[in-house]
Amino acid sequence: MIGFFGGSFDPIHFGHLKNATTIKKELNLSELFLMPCATPVHKSKLRFSAKQRLDMLRLAVQEFSELSIDTREIDKQSPSYTIDSLKQIHTEHPNDKIFFIMGADSFDNITSWKKYQQLSDYATLVVLPRIGSKQTNNKDVYFSKAPLVNISSTQIRSKIDAQQSLSGLLPESIIHYLQHL
Ligand code: ATP
Repeated sequence: MIGFFGGSFDPIHFGHLKNATTIKKELNLSELFLMPCATPVHKSKLRFSAKQRLDMLRLAVQEFSELSIDTREIDKQSPSYTIDSLKQIHTEHPNDKIFFIMGADSFDNITSWKKYQQLSDYATLVVLPRIGSKQTNNKDVYFSKAPLVNISSTQIRSKIDAQQSLSGLLPESIIHYLQHL
């Protein structure tokens, strides 16, 4: 059983990292891959380049060594659709059960995703709790019991702009990286 956690990670933070670690244990996954997108389909321009976001993911997995990185979407450079990545992953791992992990805010918008009804043909969707999201019920989806982590990349970007401390929001190695950009 393997898991894929997609996102823009602009930048990656403890909300992603703590949840990824919890869900890996909760589902007893052999591997959990953070899968950064190149050009996000549902967001306007990102703050950090693909290389910078990947640099920060690499720093993160030095600390969270139970996590891995899958670069297929970032390598493609063009907009990435989850359905296409999951189809590819499913072909590569015909005998593995595949999970796709997302926050509840992403799940709230899933009907805007390309071929969203087919996602569950290739992976079991796992939804992490997030503040402000609607409480939905869906029998095809696994709702994680992971504790709520109230951190977002938006909050971190605002703090960078306001020159406020980022301590406790993301790993110190990434804070150091951001200070030297
Ligand atoms: P932004 O604030 O820029 O929208 P974000 O913090 O939501 O970014 P993304 O990289 O867009 O981060 O998130 C990737 C995935 O991780 C999404 O499915 C999102 O819902 C989920 N996620 C992000 N932060 C959290 C969190 N604190 N708890 C649970 N899920 C999260």
